Amino acid sequence: MSEKTYRVGQWQITRIPEIDLYFDPAGLIPEWDESVLGEEAAPIIEPTRENGGSRLKAPVHSWLVRSESCRFLVDTGVGNGRQRTFAPFANLQTDYFDRLRAEGLNPNELDFVLCTHMHTDHVGWNTRADGGKWVPTFPNARYVWGRVDGAVARHPRFHQGPTAGVFEDSVEPIIEAGLFDEIEPGPFAPIDGVTFHSTPGHSPGHLAISLQSRGEEAFFGGDVLHHQVQVLRPEWNSAFCEDAEPARASRLWALGHAADSNALYFGVHLGGSSVGRVKRMGDRFTWIHE
Ligand SMILES: [Zn+2]
Repeated sequence: MSEKTYRVGQWQITRIPEIDLYFDPAGLIPEWDESVLGEEAAPIIEPTRENGGSRLKAPVHSWLVRSESCRFLVDTGVGNGRQRTFAPFANLQTDYFDRLRAEGLNPNELDFVLCTHMHTDHVGWNTRADGGKWVPTFPNARYVWGRVDGAVARHPRFHQGPTAGVFEDSVEPIIEAGLFDEIEPGPFAPIDGVTFHSTPGHSPGHLAISLQSRGEEAFFGGDVLHHQVQVLRPEWNSAFCEDAEPARASRLWALGHAADSNALYFGVHLGGSSVGRVKRMGDRFTWIHE
């Protein structure tokens, strides 16, 4: 089945699913407490529950963004065949690559891969296994990531523990092929309307991405949000945010930006469609699924 395509100005935006994870709410958002939420929370949370039950569904996917003249991906999932300590990411064999083709994308014709951050579930399909080697999945694309997270990924500490292997199988082959651009936050001139925004905290150099076209905006929040309940309670971090205070500040900034620009917000791990609009509600925010 073909995925829903969203239109923002001249762009078409399509989800490329990889896997679904399932969490107890406090396993995803440690401060989760529905008793403090108002009645507006139910229509926001219910579509993210698994079969209406107590578990939350957290997808992993990419966004494929296309215009007449440019094609790019935002984030690239976990990837197949990876040795990872986090069991749900270990040695996946999904049909993600076939799904890209089914959406009409020739991998050789992708122009850019934009990485919000260097975590294992956002850079995996940067590469694929070919003849016992990791090779760029998109050999004619420029891979774009932030300088700060690029430096973190090169650091020896990143090459052990839960991030072991990510640099070696998903980042280093791109560097060796000379296909990468390490950037600072700000407008990204090669793609008309794209701006990278510094949103540190979930990772040290996390970047959100806005895409403006014909008076409309798409906002790719990366892991600024892990669940829509954080729109109602931006002070609730995920269990995976590395630095708590900057993560909260970045989330507040991103929600304000998305609300004030009436952007269509594209999440990565948000249950339901993972797409919605952020609205101001007094001095707080709320979410409308799209
Ligand atoms: Zn993530």
